Amino acid sequence: RASSESPPSSPGNGVENVVIIGSGPAGYTAAIYAARANLKPVVFEGYQVGGVPGGQLMTTTEVENFPGFPDGITGPDLMDRMRKQAERWGAELFQEDVESIDVKKSPFTIRSSEREVKCHSLIYATGATAKRLGLPREDEFWSRGISACAICDGASPLFKGQVLAVVGGGDTATEEALYLTKYARHVHLLVRRDQLRASKAMQDRVFNNPNITVHFNTETMDVVSNTKGQMSGILVQKVDTGEESVLDAKGLFYGIGHSPNSQLLEGQVELDKSGYVLVEEGSSKTSVEGVFAAGDVQDHEWRQAVTAAGSGCIAALSVERYLVSKD
Ligand code: FAD
Repeated sequence: RASSESPPSSPGNGVENVVIIGSGPAGYTAAIYAARANLKPVVFEGYQVGGVPGGQLMTTTEVENFPGFPDGITGPDLMDRMRKQAERWGAELFQEDVESIDVKKSPFTIRSSEREVKCHSLIYATGATAKRLGLPREDEFWSRGISACAICDGASPLFKGQVLAVVGGGDTATEEALYLTKYARHVHLLVRRDQLRASKAMQDRVFNNPNITVHFNTETMDVVSNTKGQMSGILVQKVDTGEESVLDAKGLFYGIGHSPNSQLLEGQVELDKSGYVLVEEGSSKTSVEGVFAAGDVQDHEWRQAVTAAGSGCIAALSVERYLVSKD
């Protein structure tokens, strides 16, 4: 327990201490901490990602960089463990999507299709969604050749020592390309425009790296497989001439950005120009007292399971302090 004073353990007047929205590493970590602090958190897990709770990691296979699992762990197994831990400490879990939120007046109101819950505080941990290109064979090769996270997947046996490609022309794509050069035999950067949008410093690093080839005016059309059904190349088309060709590559990384799932807070809580929830530096406090944000929905930079879990912890401890201060 972080604080020495006790927050209210059982909410009065049907008003919950805290509602948590989201069941990724941020939401479940917040639930574990809040439940252990006897706050009896109510968690709306949602099922937006693949129709199941657990967030983005439900769409991946091995997670090799979450501390405590020296041999790695599958994303679904990791999330199942977090869920069980939250349940064990008494978090109340609802597998429902929240449809609307009212944080303009306290207590706040949270509505799903099944219920309406009033609460003194809210932890918003709805994550972000990697933007996809919508290639014809994207679903077939997602996590089997196509990835949206170089830091997560670059060192995996599927990609190590291979020729890889990154699609995009901004800071995300150039960072992914540079990162992948640590593991890949060569990296192709596929850029639709005739120039990079990345900062000058990033551009210099890319152009000066002999292990990166930049392809301008190049549209990524699809992935190509070999007779064993493994990804073997990328179908690209020159924007200016329409000429199509297949680039040999065993992996395609999307560096085209993420969309934070912050729609429910629009107009109520301050968001940045890309829609990420703005939090006070080094904290999880939003522009509305009693509303806290954790995980990828407030983090456009790091976007890792462990950073999301860390911010979920901070949010729950902040809620605990907030409720004590209100008492
Ligand atoms: P998320 O995991 O996105 O979870 C958000 C949750 O909010 C979901 O459960 C969703 O259903 C719920 N939600 C959204 N809207 C609503 C609503 N209206 N009502 C109720 N619930 C709602 N990171 C690593 O550290 N290591 C890895 O190896 C790794 N691999 C990855 C592989 C892939 C394919 C992807 C996509 C990401 C990977 N990441 C990895 C990144 C990591 O998954 C994210 O940083 C992390 O999941 C963010 O956690 P989060 O809790 O903020 O959000």
